[in-house]
Amino acid sequence: MSSSSGFLRPVDGSHRRMFIGGAWVEALSGEVFETRDPATGALLATVPAGSAADVDRAVKAARAALEGPWSRFKPAARQALLLKIADLFEKHWEEIALSDTLDMGMPITRSRANRHRALGTLRFYAGMATALHGETISDSLPVGEYAAFTRREPVGVVGAIIPWNGPTASTLWKIGPALATGCAVVLKPSEEAPLTPLLIAEIMAEAGVPEGVVNVVTGTGQAAGAPLAEHPDVDKLVFTGSTATGQSILRASAGNLKRVSLELGGKSPVIVCADADLERAVPLAAMAVFGNSGQICIAGSRLFVARAIHDEFVARLAAFAEGLRVGRGIEPETEIGPLVSRRQMERVLGYLDKGRAEGARLEAGGGRLSEGFFAYGNFIRPTVFAGVADEMTIAREEIFGPVISAMPFDDLEEVVARANATPYGLAAGIFTRDLSTAHRLANRIRAGSVWVNAYHAIDPALPFGGYKMSGFGREGGVEHLHEYLNTKSVVIRID
Ligand code: NAD
Repeated sequence: MSSSSGFLRPVDGSHRRMFIGGAWVEALSGEVFETRDPATGALLATVPAGSAADVDRAVKAARAALEGPWSRFKPAARQALLLKIADLFEKHWEEIALSDTLDMGMPITRSRANRHRALGTLRFYAGMATALHGETISDSLPVGEYAAFTRREPVGVVGAIIPWNGPTASTLWKIGPALATGCAVVLKPSEEAPLTPLLIAEIMAEAGVPEGVVNVVTGTGQAAGAPLAEHPDVDKLVFTGSTATGQSILRASAGNLKRVSLELGGKSPVIVCADADLERAVPLAAMAVFGNSGQICIAGSRLFVARAIHDEFVARLAAFAEGLRVGRGIEPETEIGPLVSRRQMERVLGYLDKGRAEGARLEAGGGRLSEGFFAYGNFIRPTVFAGVADEMTIAREEIFGPVISAMPFDDLEEVVARANATPYGLAAGIFTRDLSTAHRLANRIRAGSVWVNAYHAIDPALPFGGYKMSGFGREGGVEHLHEYLNTKSVVIRID
């Protein structure tokens, strides 16, 4: 392996560096920040606190890479590189999974299970690298004879800003298509979970990704994210995070009219019809929110249950929630880990108070776990509220914590209207045995992903993204690659 951030060894509170132009470097200011284990509060590492000057050097390195040897990598060479990266991911998977678990609290069983998606994503983009092409077009110009065709060219320098809730998945969804299409990336991880993206940079170096093609600048949103969004030499900005930050990124991008794609927040509906298979629906509806302690953009946090089965469903859901094992992510039996930070835990506890104050009925959970070692971490019990009205704060705002709001419904017209009565449109779940109900609901829900008798089924070949204020642009699938490409028309007079 080439020079290293020093991460491919046990986490020990030591210092990491960031990755710019193929070198492991400190912030130009010399400043650092800490990243801590959300389960114990223990110091995992210090990392450079990057700022505008560091972003600028990374953008310059990416531009130089685009104008250097990287531009001569043919599609098959980029494909081979992605396949090599996938093999290295396989080799280092345990470290990658552990890194996500330690840095943001994800239960280790879940981190390990993400292997299939990570490898699938890398190999999907590898496959696409040689499958992208332009078109030949017959012209209808009044005079002359022409050969006309389109070329698909890399958009250029891509600025990528990601959240903390799925560091591996977010990083791959940004870097994978860039490598497939021949772009260069400056990635700004979340300050809450910077370690896995640094580890992935290390794997990129080991795979032989040319210097400057992938850069990782650690730092806060204000100090490093905002300058990346504003930078005049960044051609495209791809962002995953909250809707409020997405709006400021869009404004910041206006300076040089960057292309922008935004994967933002959600308040997704899950609709359980009276004929649903409850054995399947209860655990899926529960984990549609409780998975990753509710820190999932697609959390199905508005649960609409047909009135005929509402009370039984809520009782089963509450029992399921109470039975979930909450604990440190690294313990194999843990099903629900901590929230990423004290701040996030306090935010979620604030929503629990609001739910009670506005009259919702607590059926399970409802507070923090603070006995014994729980006191050191940010643990919230999986919570089910019933008796929730559509106007309540907990039914309208994205909580990003393990909180379900259950509400009865009477007919399909009503539930479609209520499910769509949100500024968001990221995902939806439908549980029914009736094919026509499934199709009618799937057609009418305004969301980028709809799962029927399933949830969170994200395949690398399927486009994923939002309607409305959940953003625009797609990640995953062939559409994703088009976000990283420009189309050039070439017309040659041949007579
Ligand atoms: P966030 O918006 O606070 O931060 C996301 C990233 O943006 C971080 O790297 C942060 O440092 C950076 N940032 C913050 N302010 C910035 C600014 N002014 N300019 C540039 N960058 C800035 O989000 P978060 O709290 O880290 O993540 C949770 C949010 O992300 C939730 O709303 C969740 O729904 C959303 N999310 C969406 C998806 C999706 O695919 N749609 C996936 C995961 C998370």
